[in-house]
Amino acid sequence: MNFNIQNSFTSALPGDSLLENKSRQVEGAGYSYVIPRKASSPKMVHFAKELATDCGWTLQDLQSDWMLSLLSGNEIHPESKPYAMCYGGHQFGHWAGQLGDGRAINLFEHIHNGHRFSFQLKGAGPTPYSRNSDGLAVLRSSIREYLCSESMHYLGIPTTRALSIITTGDEVLRDILYDGHPTMEKGAIVCRLAPSFIRFGNFEIFASRKDINNLKLLTDYTIQYFYPHITSHDNTKYLDFFKEVCQRTIELTLNWQRVGFVHGVMNTDNMSILGLTIDYGPYGWVEDYDPNWTPNTTDAQGKRYRYGNQGNIALWNLVQLANALYPLIEDVPALEEVLENFQSTWEDQYSAMLARKLGLNTSENDHKKLALELTKLLAEVETDMTIFYRLIAHAEKTMINTDVFQLISSAFYNLEVMSEEIKIKWQNWIDRYLNCINADANSDLERKTKMNNLNPKYILRNYMAQLAIDAAEKEDYSLIEELYTMLKKPYDDQPEYEKWFAKRPEWARTKIGCSMLSCSS
Ligand code: AMP
Ligand code: MG
Repeated sequence: MNFNIQNSFTSALPGDSLLENKSRQVEGAGYSYVIPRKASSPKMVHFAKELATDCGWTLQDLQSDWMLSLLSGNEIHPESKPYAMCYGGHQFGHWAGQLGDGRAINLFEHIHNGHRFSFQLKGAGPTPYSRNSDGLAVLRSSIREYLCSESMHYLGIPTTRALSIITTGDEVLRDILYDGHPTMEKGAIVCRLAPSFIRFGNFEIFASRKDINNLKLLTDYTIQYFYPHITSHDNTKYLDFFKEVCQRTIELTLNWQRVGFVHGVMNTDNMSILGLTIDYGPYGWVEDYDPNWTPNTTDAQGKRYRYGNQGNIALWNLVQLANALYPLIEDVPALEEVLENFQSTWEDQYSAMLARKLGLNTSENDHKKLALELTKLLAEVETDMTIFYRLIAHAEKTMINTDVFQLISSAFYNLEVMSEEIKIKWQNWIDRYLNCINADANSDLERKTKMNNLNPKYILRNYMAQLAIDAAEKEDYSLIEELYTMLKKPYDDQPEYEKWFAKRPEWARTKIGCSMLSCSS
């Protein structure tokens, strides 16, 4: 098995001088060395074959005892020195101080075909950043992270990846509803891969401690390795870097809106500096279109991280990053200009994205307006977002209003409750849509193809992940395999998986894990 190991992050920044693995404040360092806890009886649940291939490894490599030991944290690669990163963060709008990798341990960076894969074990035991928690993860949350990160990748959306999921053979105590009823659950470890796991919070912690020296080292490292095309100098270099992070964050958030993904905990410690989706906790997928929906029970009151607010929150988080980078840039008007630009770009790109989802012309203001108005209509009665966009792609120029309404009717959760008033609104909207597509040069087939490449047919609905979890608790991993395989082609029609192109079943409406998720993981 071929490893090409580098430890660029730990070479670029100073480490914690204390080696003791005890919860504490770590100052003047970017990370602490830490050894993963030994898993008593690790067993592979699933691994991502394609990702293993991308790393230059075979199926046999992944199935070997050595790999199981490595990916469970039981063996350390001799060329590596595992570590946990120090970062801070704004949580739910407030500065939370030091957070750090409380249950993630970075192993090494493996380079293959010019790609850098940083390896990280989530749930491999406590670190100095565990804040007196156990540093472990349970099987249910690990399955959710594993399946969703791979699904996100195949949707074409930047994300951290998941190479493997392993049960440790150890039990973990969790109070899933935080209501004083803790139970023992199966422990698991996901091996996550990304070019880097650096977050906004890594910059914020140094800035908060006025540790400008390390702030600069971290920023220079990030630019050198992950934004190497930035060739400007001094303060301009850091401003250019910030601009690019803004751009990537806009793109990421627009992509989430496009497919109906709600991150659930967009704290600044969960924002990747590379614009990747990171930290799959109480996330969810919009089923009936509702901009106010959040899957996270912890956020049920303020709904800060609701679907319709993700663009605003991305901007808010970028303001925090701007504050953190300020000592390197020292130019308030320039930073303000970048942030203002974010806001106007966001609005324009958001409506253009919505128009594209409908196969409409993004340079026509009328088309963008129609696409925006649709989002209001979708929210008026329970309408399945994913199903709606797939069905409307079958519209044809020669159709009449009732044909189109008939086409989309199975996207409504309960057509019978639709009032006459709303029906009329739909008829008006459909008339205008038919006018738009008739004025367009694209053929019906061209439009449909474009739309289907943007509107996924298969998403990891919350109840689907829960079914896979329920089976896995009984050591039946077949549903993980089925969903994993299906989600590799989210935009294709896959007749063998037609049963997953369906509205959420009624039983899932209120079930824990399906409609509401706590942060317990
Ligand atoms: P999250 O909201 O899951 O992104 O986590 C916020 C912070 O809590 C991060 O610093 C995590 O590393 C830490 N954390 C979450 N769960 C645990 C755990 N079971 N043990 C130790 N630290 C944890
Ligand atoms: Mg986190």
